[in-house]
Amino acid sequence: MALKIWLDGKLVDKKDATVSVFDHGLLYGDGVFEGIRIYSGKVFMQKEHLLRLWESAKALRLEIPISIEEMGEAIDETVKANNLTNGYIRLIVTRGTGTLGLNPFTCAKPSIIIIADNIKLYPQELYDNGMKIISSSIVRNHPLSLPPQIKSLNYLNNILAKIEAIDAGVLEAVMFNHEGFVAEATGDNIFIIKNEIIYTPPVQSGSLQGITRDAVMKIAKKEGFKVIEQNLTRFDLYTADEFFLTGTAAEVIGITEIDGRVIGNAKPGRITKLLKDKFFEFANG
Ligand code: PMP
Repeated sequence: MALKIWLDGKLVDKKDATVSVFDHGLLYGDGVFEGIRIYSGKVFMQKEHLLRLWESAKALRLEIPISIEEMGEAIDETVKANNLTNGYIRLIVTRGTGTLGLNPFTCAKPSIIIIADNIKLYPQELYDNGMKIISSSIVRNHPLSLPPQIKSLNYLNNILAKIEAIDAGVLEAVMFNHEGFVAEATGDNIFIIKNEIIYTPPVQSGSLQGITRDAVMKIAKKEGFKVIEQNLTRFDLYTADEFFLTGTAAEVIGITEIDGRVIGNAKPGRITKLLKDKFFEFANG
């Protein structure tokens, strides 16, 4: 069965799901998006994702032409049309079709695209044995330039860091902010554990407010762990007892080496594994 894409109010076949070459989403990366999981037939934390989408759009002065409720219905329709009980939803709002100039206000109307498909996570082997990463030389966008809290279609900052990771033979890279503190990975948030205490950088140090991050923080607190949001340095990462990343696609994945420094006993740690399992239960419960 051909994949059905929701495009500006209609479900169309994948081959017919096309946008204009004058869309500023393509011309300038002007737009916003979300990645959402479907677990056991339910759209995971839809409310939180839609709120973040609307806040990202607001920060860019982009008015989404339908209501949050209508977007929810459109998501349900797309998931149903593609018969998915587990999968991934990509929600995109572009600035729309305009002229060749930068001015976003020449664009007639934002376009909305909803893709619901299967998802490929990291290989299982990396979840079992942990993942190696590097620290990137690419500084995360300055908050006064392009706030990392906006989930925009302009991911070049992250892509440059991702290229460094791939060149180094790994799949992820830690990005630091303009002050030298840990911001986030190219597509995931960062957590470390030291002496049984869980640390993650505050979003103000230059990260997206990850929905998985927030869920994992809540789960960790419920399990009785102390969770502290504070600035972290590269040294803190090198000397952590445990280290993991969180994200919609990645879920919870243990990091066992960064820049050649082995974390813990080179296997995903006990607390990391516990949080990974509890997150799985929460998502599928
Ligand atoms: N940071 C960045 C840059 C991201 O793109 C993502 C989403 N892939 C995350 C963090 C994690 O956020 P979430 O848990 O909401 O997917």
